[in-house]
Amino acid sequence: MNRVNSTTTFNFINGKYCDPVGDDWLENINPADGTLLGRIANSTEQDVENAVIAASNAQSNWSESTLEQRSRILSKIGDLIEENIESLATIESEDSGKPIGRARTIEIPRAASNFHFFANAITQFSSESHESVGQNAINFTLRQPLGVVGCISPWNLPLYLFTWKIAPALAAGNCVIAKPSELTPRTASMLGDLCNQAGLPAGVLNIIQGTGSRTGQAILEHEKIKAISFTGGTATGEHVARVVAPKFKKLSLELGGKNPNIIFADCNYERALETTIHSSFANQGQICLCGSRIFIESSIYEKFKADFVARTGQLSVGHPAETETTIGAMVSGDHYRKVLSYLDEIDPADASILCGGKPATVAGYEQGFYIEPTIIEVQNNQCRLNQEEIFGPVVTLMPFDNEEELIAMANDVKYGLSATIWTRDLDRTMRLSKKIECGVVWINTWLMRDLRTPFGGMKDSGVGREGGLEALRFFTEPKNICIAFEN
Ligand code: NAP
Repeated sequence: MNRVNSTTTFNFINGKYCDPVGDDWLENINPADGTLLGRIANSTEQDVENAVIAASNAQSNWSESTLEQRSRILSKIGDLIEENIESLATIESEDSGKPIGRARTIEIPRAASNFHFFANAITQFSSESHESVGQNAINFTLRQPLGVVGCISPWNLPLYLFTWKIAPALAAGNCVIAKPSELTPRTASMLGDLCNQAGLPAGVLNIIQGTGSRTGQAILEHEKIKAISFTGGTATGEHVARVVAPKFKKLSLELGGKNPNIIFADCNYERALETTIHSSFANQGQICLCGSRIFIESSIYEKFKADFVARTGQLSVGHPAETETTIGAMVSGDHYRKVLSYLDEIDPADASILCGGKPATVAGYEQGFYIEPTIIEVQNNQCRLNQEEIFGPVVTLMPFDNEEELIAMANDVKYGLSATIWTRDLDRTMRLSKKIECGVVWINTWLMRDLRTPFGGMKDSGVGREGGLEALRFFTEPKNICIAFEN
């Protein structure tokens, strides 16, 4: 594969890899050992401009291509991702510090599924029509591509989320300017080569590398970019909204979370316990959907606490390339220090650490960014640990006595992304699902995804929905055509 193992990550514009115009480069650090992996293009407004010119030139042919042509190319990209799982997973694990097994079995396959799913979905996409009975007219909704759109994604699930935006944007007939996080640039870069192999015309997808504050900002501000699909932190999302809203671009914001994981005494105990290990610590707790606030019904609180702490003690913090590793490295030195700062500032009146709570040392990789999986018992839901998104292997525990108290605590947070509820009581399931303020509710499971379903958050967790037809609707402009006829 072209430039797969290169230590230099270029921009991908008009179907070709190229240096940034300003010849400016960033360092790519391996979070597992602190060594230098290579350098990354640090793009300017001029690079974004070049990408927009390429995309604008490609736009009319791409939007006029048949659904079958688009579907075939997108499906081929999905196939090529599957054929290159091993090299993509290796690079993803190196860039991000995530255990390679996770990249190999969950994240890279999901990137392939994103293309396969939208390759099919676009062939089934339809719009509404309304007969104006008595007025002798029929209205139908014409859905057209928006044009050149911007997709900006975070570092935590790099290729998985990058493709989750790009695939529907391309399927709907748009050309794309996409920016991955500067912390995890390489699998995004590799996607360019796979797109060429699949026959995607030059300029339809352009991948621009660089910092959020310069390269990302240039994407937000560019007058010819018609829409922004953004996934990242809530503070950045607020900034994105401030820049983009006055320009009247279409905007989708998928932001942070502080999700409740609610465990009732009547649950399937073993399943709840086992899944809670994953929902707490998968990807070092760096998943927006992790259940970082665990509320446990009082009657089973002490037992669950003891079992959860014991099970967590069996997790293995280690180098991401080792197959037995369950907890890899944090993505960067900055993020590692940010997570640790929460642990350093714990007020004993508010909270006590039940396990973990400090950096982990992995023999031979002492410069890597490792943190022990950490469980903290908190006294109230108002403490900082329960109100702010830590985005690391850190969860809190609290007991609850009844549904009213539980719902009040679950909703008493600025975020509203997801919730997990463990119970066998169907009536309670429905009562709580209606009352809980979030975009996704999992009952007796976690992170089970069907790509047809709407995905997104309420409150400070975002605006808009991705997934299935929602994504195709976002990436198209609905136009009402009213045709009068004579009887
Ligand atoms: P982030 O710092 O907000 O960055 C997200 C993306 O925005 C990165 O590509 C970043 O580039 C870019 N960016 C930063 N400043 C920008 C600016 N001024 N203009 C345009 N782009 C800019 O978030 P993160 O730390 O990468 O990711 C973690 C956050 O994402 C967490 O809060 C997590 O909950 C959230 N998240 C949400 C979802 C969801 O679906 N709701 C999914 C995954 C993650 P650089 O990294 O190069 O600076």
